[in-house]
Amino acid sequence: MQRWLWVKQLMSRNTLVVFLSLVFVTGSYAADLPLIITTKHTILMFNTEEDMATFNDSIKYEAASSLASIFSTPSSSDVRKEVIRKVDLLFEKAQLILDMRKPMNKVTVRMHSNEVQLQESFKKLYQQGGNLRGWYFFDNNTVYLNVKDVHEGMLAHELGHAIIDNFLSVRPPRATAEILAQYVDAHLFEELRKY
Ligand SMILES: [Zn+2]
Repeated sequence: MQRWLWVKQLMSRNTLVVFLSLVFVTGSYAADLPLIITTKHTILMFNTEEDMATFNDSIKYEAASSLASIFSTPSSSDVRKEVIRKVDLLFEKAQLILDMRKPMNKVTVRMHSNEVQLQESFKKLYQQGGNLRGWYFFDNNTVYLNVKDVHEGMLAHELGHAIIDNFLSVRPPRATAEILAQYVDAHLFEELRKY
């Protein structure tokens, strides 16, 4: 009897887990609809406004500052504007550093709320566990990151991968792409050399 109850509980727990994973992956349930922001170069997906604010605080790249924002709490539309501005600036800087400028499809940037969610996404994509803090997946042109563990260098690096893999008519070997992407985050704050 007790054993049966335990099995029943386990089953319902698994059902819940499956349901929650579905919500997370598809985002098609109203309560868990991700926040989608389309920028000039990207489509940003956050789970919540709070995640967007956390992300905004972590990305330090020429944040728009005004007297008003010092004396008052920024509204969510201010945060949104800053996020859009910073992400597009970073994207364009990565393009400049690589000298790979041409129109390309908007890159989706899927922001996860925590490490567990990020690793769940990894498992779904690669059918194995991983411990990456972020990555770019070519097949769906999507960058995967965790809002609690991100900084401007990481974002520029992963956007760099998207630019590198889509610029050349043949995708470069992985090692070559990694060297180029690392070059982007290493030189993010430097003046650009003219070629
Ligand atoms: Zn990389």
